[in-house]
Amino acid sequence: MLIYLHIPFCDSKCHYCAFNSYVDKFDLKNIYMKAIITQLEQELLIFKPKKNSIKSLFIGGGTPSTIDTKLYDNFFKTIKPYLKKMRK
Ligand code: SF4
Repeated sequence: MLIYLHIPFCDSKCHYCAFNSYVDKFDLKNIYMKAIITQLEQELLIFKPKKNSIKSLFIGGGTPSTIDTKLYDNFFKTIKPYLKKMRK
């Protein structure tokens, strides 16, 4: 199983860009990240992944670094038990 987290915010809009990204909606970052948790919890209920079963987590956008790292905390707390542990 794979997870994709879309962050739809950028500091500036590149002229060639057709991605779903915004430079004028930074006031929505907090509510967006809360909505991501709600969606993640719903999808965990629907898809019922086993613990340690998600092999890949891709965070794209947009520009993921436009989000303060603290706003990712609840996302990672929620998803962590499901992420496959890497062997050394
Ligand atoms: S998503 Fe990438 S290409 Fe598009 S505006 Fe943001 S930085 Fe530029």
